Amino acid sequence: MSKPIYYQTAAELADQLSAGELTSEELVRAVIDRTKKVEPQVQAFLSFDEEDALAQARASDARRKEGKALGPLDGIPVGIKDVLAVTGQPLTCASRMLEKFVSPYDATCIQKLKQAGAVLWGRLNMDEFAMGSSTENSAFQQTGNPWDTDRIPGGSSGGSAACVAAGEAIVSLGSDTGGSIRQPAALCGVVGLKPSYGLVSRYGLVAFASSLDQIGPFARGVEDAALLLQGIAGHDPRDSTSYKTEIPDYRAALKEKKGPWKLGIPKEYFGEGLDPEVEKAVRGAIEFYRKSGCEIVEVSLPHTQYAVAVYYIIATAEASSNLARYDGVRYTRRSDKAADAIDLYFQTRAEGFGQEVKRRIILGTYVLSSGYYDAYYLRAQKVRTLIRDDFMKAFEKVDALLTPTSPVPAFKKGERTADPLAMYLSDIFTISTNLAGLPGISIPCGFTGSGLPIGLQILGQPFAEADLLAIARHYEQAHDHHQQHPNLD
Ligand code: GLN
Repeated sequence: MSKPIYYQTAAELADQLSAGELTSEELVRAVIDRTKKVEPQVQAFLSFDEEDALAQARASDARRKEGKALGPLDGIPVGIKDVLAVTGQPLTCASRMLEKFVSPYDATCIQKLKQAGAVLWGRLNMDEFAMGSSTENSAFQQTGNPWDTDRIPGGSSGGSAACVAAGEAIVSLGSDTGGSIRQPAALCGVVGLKPSYGLVSRYGLVAFASSLDQIGPFARGVEDAALLLQGIAGHDPRDSTSYKTEIPDYRAALKEKKGPWKLGIPKEYFGEGLDPEVEKAVRGAIEFYRKSGCEIVEVSLPHTQYAVAVYYIIATAEASSNLARYDGVRYTRRSDKAADAIDLYFQTRAEGFGQEVKRRIILGTYVLSSGYYDAYYLRAQKVRTLIRDDFMKAFEKVDALLTPTSPVPAFKKGERTADPLAMYLSDIFTISTNLAGLPGISIPCGFTGSGLPIGLQILGQPFAEADLLAIARHYEQAHDHHQQHPNLD
């Protein structure tokens, strides 16, 4: 095979591992070498532990030798966003507040990956506490987009997207509160899936906005996204919002579900602010579905215009409450300048949080304060219901919706940092999905004239991941965008 090991898919590698043509140790070494080679440019990792990864790989090889291989993820290196708890590993959320924090336990999704034999590989850069769309809010470093390292990889899971695009991991995990999996996936030319709210346990995911957060996979192909989702989905009594539902065989669904589908095009997603090259690529993808027998209908989601405002009320309200726990008493960081106990809270939070996190805490505290609660928070919750109703009405007519993932391709580092509103608008097509609790996937659907990836977003009904994956795969099988790689050599 001509493709280097680090650019093969988990599905391909799993076959080679089980045929005895490759060991996990060889695979992990190839990924480590690749990482060391390109990291000076990409800077996707906040930290990694080679010896630990190799030990996991050798354990996988030993299991396999004894005929006890655990399934398709056994021995496959999976990159982990630095917001998910792994026992004994740093858990910084790219924040000075947690700079020295080491996790005392495993997130449920991590426990599941361990049970599946996956090799947990590194801690991936992100916007501080997952707040941002460019990974520039990391307190520690700026990740480059592997397609043009002067540009941002998207965010907040920028490290998770960039490492998969650059061959520094085979697949990875990220989290998505308002687009943080799908938007960086689109900007880095990889597949990213945000599951339905409640499909994947949030236990061990550091909370940003608890009613919106979900953990999901990044991959270089739809089949790999299906495999990784399979590994992490399922009810968990430790997350009271995790849903009791039967988990289908997502990989089998790729073969079984063949369409043709009835696909809706929400007209509100094709208006002002949409980059012409993005629009052209997405319309091209829609045309492909039409030509291959799908029925394409225009639909309307009339409350879309309120989504950004509603999101930045609800998400900041929840964040202000979730981040109250970083008080200088717990979680390692403690200011040594404090005069008394109250001052300790102030000083520690002033020193530990970055600017964007502070902005969100202030906004969130404001919308929850007495006298404003009804006017902002309660009202936003009501509009949230209207946004969800729009989707549910659309799904009476269609199986799924097709939209651009991001209104623009990857922008230059520094281009939007001075203007929070411009940054917030990066998520205009992704946040409604979280407000409504729906699943969404972004897949590569083309490139701009200057070679930057473009993403197509497919949205479905709650718990329709199997359908989304099949619809995505249908496109992927007829195109090769997902097989193109950035030039980092
Ligand atoms: N960019 C959005 C925000 O800044 C979404 C982030 C996310 O999904 N974690 O809140």
